[in-house]
Amino acid sequence: MHRKPHLPIKNCLACARPFAWRKKWARDWNEVRYCSDRCRREKGRGGPSPSAPHPEYAPPTSRRGRPAS
Ligand SMILES: [Zn+2]
Repeated sequence: MHRKPHLPIKNCLACARPFAWRKKWARDWNEVRYCSDRCRREKGRGGPSPSAPHPEYAPPTSRRGRPAS
């Protein structure tokens, strides 16, 4: 009776390669999206971050209606 460990697999968002579950990801496997730190850094660099608004989207009132006090 041979039982292979059944590891979940995900596709890396940066290099698009499948990678298997690792013990170091045991705690936050749900959050893992990249096969390595390198891929995470590569993807995180240059991409627009959803939390930071674009400068063009700044409402005009924020430029003008500034309290002078
Ligand atoms: Zn990768």
